[in-house]
Amino acid sequence: MTTWLVAGGAGYIGAHVVRSLQAAGAQPVVLDDLSTGDPLRVGVPLIKGDIADTELVVDTLRRYQVAGVIQLAADKQVEQSMRQPLTYYRRNVVNLLQLLTAMQEVGVAKLVFSSSAAVYGMIEGDDVRESDETAPINPYGETKLIGEWLIQDQARAAGLRYAALRYFNVVGAGSSELADHGRTNLVPMVLDAMRRKARPVIFGDDHPTPDGTCVRDYIHVSDLADAHVAAIGALAQPGASHVLNVGCGRGYSVREVIDMVAQVSGHPLDPIVGDRRPGDPASVVANTDLISATLGWRARHDLRDMVRSAWEAELRTASLPSPAPSPDASGSTSEG
Ligand code: UDP
Repeated sequence: MTTWLVAGGAGYIGAHVVRSLQAAGAQPVVLDDLSTGDPLRVGVPLIKGDIADTELVVDTLRRYQVAGVIQLAADKQVEQSMRQPLTYYRRNVVNLLQLLTAMQEVGVAKLVFSSSAAVYGMIEGDDVRESDETAPINPYGETKLIGEWLIQDQARAAGLRYAALRYFNVVGAGSSELADHGRTNLVPMVLDAMRRKARPVIFGDDHPTPDGTCVRDYIHVSDLADAHVAAIGALAQPGASHVLNVGCGRGYSVREVIDMVAQVSGHPLDPIVGDRRPGDPASVVANTDLISATLGWRARHDLRDMVRSAWEAELRTASLPSPAPSPDASGSTSEG
């Protein structure tokens, strides 16, 4: 059985990657500083520590005879990155450099890197391709793009094989204990508003999109996790390296997402339309031809599955209001 080190495996996405690896018959070992991660959701050997601690990483790679590394140990909040750029450059770039140094020392030459659609910046449209221009507009996106460059250069120089996965909007939960504890993305914010008995806020409905609200490509976290396993398979080929979008390849508007939460939960929602959020492109949808051709992977879950899994996880972990009987609530049960 091959062993893979999942750096950041106690986080929301990392914990799902651990489950997908196990399902595929691989042996995950987690390295996580637990800055935002939760040790209770790991379920496999967990080393508490920093990817910047070269000695610890070298020792871990040797001790577990690690075949490759999945690197998700990074900070990911756009707004925070604008206030604390030094922290983001240190944790997302310098620490990655340290991790690559340790991998080189041991001769571990396979890496799956968690990148982001944030590398594209203000790109607009329903067909964002990997070959499109990268022009990030915040430190978070910049650190992800610099990470890709660093890895690419190391691949050229030292024979590293890598897959950089550019995540689009990740939603949902594979099970309730693996739910997203963050409160900065659309679906968690809508659920949070419901818990507070407040109205969700739409950041602008005057965008140039069909219903005026922003359109994004949402991807179920379990599908995303499976893409990591597919990427590992592709790295078996010598010299293979890939930069790949991971999304559904279709867009949903903010209003469609909120409507889906209302349908799935059986709670009517009456969103407030607020101002546009600075730096939000109107529409960003992945072209997923490359990942399906390269890895034979495609998303299996649609928006309803994503929202339903997030809602069910919330029901188990939070004190949400119980579903109100409502004449139009059939959507919440018909496909359960
Ligand atoms: N959004 C919104 N209300 C919220 C949170 C997000 O209208 O409470 C919108 C946001 O403007 C964007 C979309 O939902 O168009 C997705 O935002 P998120 O922060 O989840 O991801 P992003 O696409 O910005 O990375």
